[in-house]
Amino acid sequence: MLSYQHGYHAGNPADVHKHLTLIAVIQRLQAKESSIHYFDTHAGKGHYDLTDAQAQKTGEFAVGVARMVPLRERLVVNPIWAEFFAALDSANAAQTNRGQVIKTEQLRYYPGSPGWISRLRREQDRHTVFELHPAEHEVLSTLGETHTGRVVYGDGLQGVVKLLPPKTPRLMVLIDPAYENKTEYDDVASAAAKILQRCRHAVVLIWYPLLPAAKHQTLLARISNDIPMPVLQSEFHYQANSGERGMYGAGMLVVNPPWQLEKNITELMSPILAEYGEVAKLEQSWLVAE
Ligand code: SAM
Repeated sequence: MLSYQHGYHAGNPADVHKHLTLIAVIQRLQAKESSIHYFDTHAGKGHYDLTDAQAQKTGEFAVGVARMVPLRERLVVNPIWAEFFAALDSANAAQTNRGQVIKTEQLRYYPGSPGWISRLRREQDRHTVFELHPAEHEVLSTLGETHTGRVVYGDGLQGVVKLLPPKTPRLMVLIDPAYENKTEYDDVASAAAKILQRCRHAVVLIWYPLLPAAKHQTLLARISNDIPMPVLQSEFHYQANSGERGMYGAGMLVVNPPWQLEKNITELMSPILAEYGEVAKLEQSWLVAE
């Protein structure tokens, strides 16, 4: 049974790094007109209320998205940050008398991955999202396809493979599990290999947590062994590794990354590192060489 619910973690520093990377990839892919099918294997509920009991219990958003809002003016010179804040303004339009920019005290809603992608999806693109948790799926389904893409209730890792190849010439797959089950690091690597066997040109984004037990090493070893395409690894370390428990950062793997993605992410993350003190760092390298 699934117990993880993203509402406890939505808008945390790992989400900010993940969603900025997602926007950067999509903006780069859309430099060409040809259509793209976006698949989101672990959608969550699509839209998060930061005043609800889950978000308030952990307060993780307070050190993530809420810490970004006062920095807006110097961040929005970058078009990816500009899109990030435009999405926040739009999600919080009811709080700000429409058309105004969001202030920290007005921040209430944070979009999930289906929302970030839906904002950027073009007429010619396709968008399919999977969710397996019944309650999360129910909320997601009420938002409407304009805000979520096509919603499928089911296992995203198996589901995406069955839908390949897509009818569009290009595809992007976001794989963002909760890693609740012991086998999930291996399952993600196996699914990524199958996706890339069917579609060598797929751009695949894989999120993973940085935890003291370092279980993500299984994922990294499998990907570097099984995937022959270039893989960019981007890790945001935002607190010290206590060596005991708790996430101290998160990583994104991007298979077949668009040109200059590494530089894009450096430019996005460098201006916010100081907010997390001396321990904070962005580590990027090629897990599989270009
Ligand atoms: N991608 C979302 C975002 O960025 O807003 C967050 C997703 S959350 C980390 C992981 C989600 O995957 C949870 O909602 C969980 O219920 C769902 N899930 C877990 N196993 C799944 C599976 N095999 N297939 C589809 N969804 C799954």
